Amino acid sequence: MKLWSNYHVAHSVTEALTLLGNYGGQAQIIAGGTDLLIDLQQGNHEPKTALIDITKVPEMALIEQDGDTLIIGAGVTHSSIVATPIIQERATCLVESCGVVGGPQVRNVATLGGNVAHAMPAADGTLSLVALDAEAEVASPDGRHWYPIQQVFVGPGKSVIDPSRQVLTRFRLKLTGTHAGSAFHRIMRPQGVALPILGCAVSVALDDDERFQTVGICLGPIGPTPARAVELETRLIGRTADPSVIAEIADYGRQALHPRTSKYRATAEYRVEMIELLLRQSLTAAVNRAQGITTEPFSAE
Ligand SMILES: Cc1cc2nc3c(=O)[nH]c(=O)nc-3n(C[C@H](O)[C@H](O)[C@H](O)COP(=O)(O)OP(=O)(O)OC[C@H]3O[C@@H](n4cnc5c(N)ncnc54)[C@H](O)[C@@H]3O)c2cc1C
Repeated sequence: MKLWSNYHVAHSVTEALTLLGNYGGQAQIIAGGTDLLIDLQQGNHEPKTALIDITKVPEMALIEQDGDTLIIGAGVTHSSIVATPIIQERATCLVESCGVVGGPQVRNVATLGGNVAHAMPAADGTLSLVALDAEAEVASPDGRHWYPIQQVFVGPGKSVIDPSRQVLTRFRLKLTGTHAGSAFHRIMRPQGVALPILGCAVSVALDDDERFQTVGICLGPIGPTPARAVELETRLIGRTADPSVIAEIADYGRQALHPRTSKYRATAEYRVEMIELLLRQSLTAAVNRAQGITTEPFSAE
């Protein structure tokens, strides 16, 4: 059986939307294809009349800085994110999370937009976008709309984006400034099934007295969607950013969050212990960076 009949390469967002419209819901956007082609092969999606490739849309391949705001095109690959100095310096957790996606072959073609549009609660790049409080722009036939990133996700594999009618175009986020930093750590089986046991992205800003001013924490997979750990964030605000406070919050995270047993990932008992470890590692690295202390980048390889 043919998994798709026609393949079109769009050169603008308008052209992609027109092509989708021409197929009346029977076509689907493809970027790197590292999720979609497997989904089609495994029968998770019905065969498509057409695939619409967005990797040649110039605006979706851009990384642009506008003051303290960073815009990342949805068609930017994980490898490009890892290699971009401004993201290394001022959105470090995104580099650390995109840097552990698959292997080099996957990262060279897989996109940040595909990671978000696939809407999995363990998606590494997505966890960092959530911790960084990013926004996502979605183009529809009737115009474009910016969504706070958390509002994009509806359930596992489900989002507000309909890739048979809409295009996820760009992400927008505030770069970390002085006295701010971010970090991402992940625990993964060294061999076998390519599913993370748990990932944790953290973004912090400290005030002049070294207290937590703003905090973004996203761990996954824990719930059906990638979500902020608001209870932990609230407990940190106003507290001094020192190892004892970090240890207290990491320990609290173990009690407050409830990951499930997954036969492909690990038992709930093991994963809950890893919450404490990941929170401690990620918060310590983010605070060190906010304080100007050099911290080696996290790499799972
Ligand atoms: C071997 C292997 C290892 C992997 N390891 C990891 C890992 O460690 N961590 C991780 O997070 N993921 C991993 N993945 C999953 C995958 O590589 C990522 O989720 C990747 O970012 C998907 O991007 P893509 O460009 O390939 O998306 P595609 O497969 O092209 O698309 C995925 C979905 O998003 C839709 N879509 C894509 N772009 C757009 C857009 N701009 N607008 C609207 N809809 C869009 C598609 O229609 C499709 O439904 C792995 C995959 C493989 C094959």
